[in-house]
This record gives sequence, structure tokens and C-alpha cells, in this order.
Amino acid sequence: AAKQAKNGAVIYAPDIDKSSQQSLSLLSEMRTALERNDFRLYVQPKVSLTNGEVVAVEALVRWLHPERNFIYPDQFIPFAEQTGFIRQLTHWMMNASAQACREWKNAGIHLKISVNISTRDLMDQELPEKFANILSLHQVQAADFCLEITESAIMDDPVRAHLTLDKLHAMGMELSIDDFGTGYSSLAYLKRLPVNELKIDKSFVLKMEQDIDDTKIVKSTIDLGHNMGLRVVAEGIENAKVMNLLKELGCDQGQGYHISRPMPASELQPWLLTWSQ
Ligand code: C2E
Ligand code: CA
Ligand code: CA
Ligand code: CA
Repeated sequence: AAKQAKNGAVIYAPDIDKSSQQSLSLLSEMRTALERNDFRLYVQPKVSLTNGEVVAVEALVRWLHPERNFIYPDQFIPFAEQTGFIRQLTHWMMNASAQACREWKNAGIHLKISVNISTRDLMDQELPEKFANILSLHQVQAADFCLEITESAIMDDPVRAHLTLDKLHAMGMELSIDDFGTGYSSLAYLKRLPVNELKIDKSFVLKMEQDIDDTKIVKSTIDLGHNMGLRVVAEGIENAKVMNLLKELGCDQGQGYHISRPMPASELQPWLLTWSQ
């Protein structure tokens, strides 16, 4: 099933449950894509809401399919998670991010890079070691990275997730709870994890303008995060009004189309020049 997106790109929507035959071919296509280097590192800036400076970027994967154009993560990440392919993809993303980090540092640009991590990654006992190898390969530091994890990824197997997260944190990587407020969060459990950042899910931020309840949820989350000594980031900022509202509520950082859409990593440097001018 293919449909036309607003920007003209063809979105390929594989019907994951349709048949195991199709699922199998999607898996082999993903493997081929990895071999052919068809995945792309995109980044989206995160800015300080206090002084407007770009402080970090989130790494987001894109799949440049030879026939189907761009395939967006929502179309294959869930399937990559089901099949375990996500581990290879996470490895590719971490490597691409570390390489970009090195290039930016060489150009005098120091930004934290947030990488998305899934349940299946956290179940891998060797993940911290694999990450350490990538860091030394590209001569970058653990402290250059923040790992974004969803609440549900942690709740799948809290004990094992906790173990892996403790190791990653001990290495010096920051941890962020992604899509905060949408999962089955156990606040008591979150309290015990070595978390640095809460990321308010865009579903609340997108509706802040229209729905006072969403504003209340956002405000409460900011206060909760701050009371726990965490940095709070809002994603899905699409206009100046919402950005100002978040600023007034004391939110630390923001990310969204109003600031910039995700862009190829190679376009970040020129974009930064236009932002600071
Ligand atoms: P996420 O981690 O919550 O990432 C934020 C998503 O919101 C991104 O979608 C981003 O393009 C989009 N977004 C950013 N600003 C705005 C805005 O102002 N308005 C709206 N409507 N959307 C905005 P994207 O890149 O399509 O990724 C979707 C999801 O796929 C991500 O959600 C994440 O869960 C997953 N994903 C993407 N890349 C990776 C990856 O490398 N590894 C893993 N495990 N998951 C990934
Ligand atoms: Ca994320
Ligand atoms: Ca998110
Ligand atoms: Ca999400």
C-alpha cells in the first residue's frame, strides 16, 4: 500500500500482519538496505528555551528506498522491533551519530546527540560494550550522547532494562524518558532510574493551544520533572505561540517544526549559521 504525502513523497505502508510472506520480505529488504547503506541519519535541533541557543540534536532514521523513495520510521521501526532487526539499526544509528559528532567537533560545534533506543536494545547485555567501542572508534565521549527511551521499553522488563541503563549511565551517557505521559508509567520506578531528562510527548504539546487540559498536563509534567531535578524538553512545537507558552511554564528545551524539521546530518552546519544570525 503506497500513499502520497503532502510533500509529494510516496509513503510505503507495509501491512505488517497481512502475511508472513510479506513480513519476511520486509525483513530481507531492511537487511539489504543496511548492506547497501540506504539508511540515512537525519537530525532535528533542540533549542534552549531560556536563550534560544541550539544545545542538542535528536538523531532520526530515514530509509531511502531505491524504488519507494523515503520510508518513514513509523512504517518500519515497529517491525524492526518485532523481528529484532532494531539491534542492527540502533548500532548503525549510533555509529552514524558518533561519526557526525566527530565531524561537528572538528568544526568547533559541540552539541549533545540524542539517539533513540528500543526495548530489544535494552535486553542486549552487551549494548554498553558495543557503544563503548563505537565511541572509541570515532574518538567521541559518552557525555556527548543522550539516549531516549520510552516508558513502555522500560516497563517490558524493568529489571533488565534497569541493569543496562545503569551501565550506560555509569559510562557517562545521559538518559531521557521519551513520549512521557503516554505509557503505563510507574512513577515510583522512574524515580529509581538514573534519568536526566523528561521529554513531553508531542500529542500534548500539539494540542496546548486548543485544549486547556493539555496545557495543565504539560505544566504538571514540567513541575514534576523539575521537582525530581530533571531537565524537561517539549517536542512538537509547531508555532511561536506554543513556544512562548512553554517558555512561560519554565520548560527547559524545545524541539519542533517551528524551529526546524529533521534534516540530513550534512545540512546541520549551514542551518546553524542561519539560526544564529
Ligand atoms: P520520536 O522519538 O517521538 O521522534 C519525534 C518525532 O516527531 C519524529 O518523527 C519527528 O520528525 C516528529 N516531529 C518533530 N517535530 C514535530 C512537530 O513539530 N510536529 C509534528 N507533528 N511532528 C514532529 P519521525 O522522525 O517520523 O520518527 C517517528 C518515531 O520513529 C520516533 O518518534 C521514534 O519513536 C521512531 N524512530 C525514529 N528514528 C529512530 C531510530 O533511529 N531508532 C529508533 N529505535 N526509533 C526511531
Ligand atoms: Ca525520541
Ligand atoms: Ca517523542
Ligand atoms: Ca513517538
